[in-house]
Amino acid sequence: MSDRRRFLLGLGLGGAALAAPSILRAQTAAPPKFPQPALPYEFTALAPVIGAQTVELHYARHHAGQYATMNRLIVGRRYADMNSLVQIVQQSSLVAADAAIFNNAGQALNHDIYWPQFTPGGPKEPSGALKAKIDSDLGGFDKMKTDLVALSNGIFGSGWGWIAQDGAGKLVLMATLNGDNPVTKNHTPILGIDVWEHAYYLDWQNRRADHVKAVLDDLVNWSVVGERVKA
Ligand code: MN
Repeated sequence: MSDRRRFLLGLGLGGAALAAPSILRAQTAAPPKFPQPALPYEFTALAPVIGAQTVELHYARHHAGQYATMNRLIVGRRYADMNSLVQIVQQSSLVAADAAIFNNAGQALNHDIYWPQFTPGGPKEPSGALKAKIDSDLGGFDKMKTDLVALSNGIFGSGWGWIAQDGAGKLVLMATLNGDNPVTKNHTPILGIDVWEHAYYLDWQNRRADHVKAVLDDLVNWSVVGERVKA
């Protein structure tokens, strides 16, 4: 049969041709187990520290892609029955064969922490209980920023710099590689700084330390961060 003939026959299958799109729609319309949370501001909201093109690519391509991959990989696995990304990250971190799930779930979680902490309009310095904890555990706001810039800048390759809270309630600075998150050490992430090159290269090129300093000085909403600290 010629390709042309096959094509015409295909057009002649009116019922099937009409039915096929609705079947496809039914399959693709099933909501993912874990939908990507909405970005709580416009792509332009973080400029000039993080430009609109970076935010769009980072949120709508990188982060969305990590969610899509994770949701695809967990189908039919025990991870699909878990209630939170934290649980998936913690459990998959223990199984070498599930590295792809761990990497993508970790990055989905990491960016869920990252985007809201920049919600515009909040205080540019910590106050109250968060300030007291930064003073007592991290040597004060200025020292914490200096140390977190150095820690984040020193990560070789891709990773994240964090303020986290340990099991005793103490704030600590941490570096993690690739898609890892403090929850794999049973720490609670309080603030996450993405130092993958996609997070800053369009705006800052190789000046990673300058980028991290600007994020800490000008972008962080310390009210959002403070709400993550357990008393
Ligand atoms: Mn990222």
